[in-house]
Formats: sequence, structure tokens, C-alpha cells
Amino acid sequence: MTKSMKITCPVCKKKTVWEDNQFRPFCSERCRLIDLGKWASEEYRIAGEKKDIPDADGDEKKEDER
Ligand SMILES: [Zn+2]
Repeated sequence: MTKSMKITCPVCKKKTVWEDNQFRPFCSERCRLIDLGKWASEEYRIAGEKKDIPDADGDEKKEDER
């Protein structure tokens, strides 16, 4: 059977092993952190967009000018 399953790191596409790999499915801690950072930066971008909604501000201005 497949005693040492080979996997491909999704970050750097390097071949690595599944067994005895504490960073799987990545080949190393570095690639795992890169992947985590990708998710974190995406979440940060969404949060930033939410914070920058111009709708409420525009309504307030309209009432002020009336
Ligand atoms: Zn890698």
C-alpha cells in the first residue's frame, strides 16, 4: 500500500509527504503561513470595505443641507 503518500504543496507546488508532516497539506511552516496570510488579508479587505460604506454619510449630509 501507500506507506508514504505523496502530496503537492498548494502554495509552492512542491512534492511533499503526508505522513509525519506536521504542516500538511503544506510542505513547510513557511507555506502554511503564506496560505494563512492569504486568508487573513482577504478578510481584512472585506472588513475594510464594510467600514467604508458611504451611504449613511451621504444621507446625513443631505439632511444637514436642507
Ligand atoms: Zn510549499
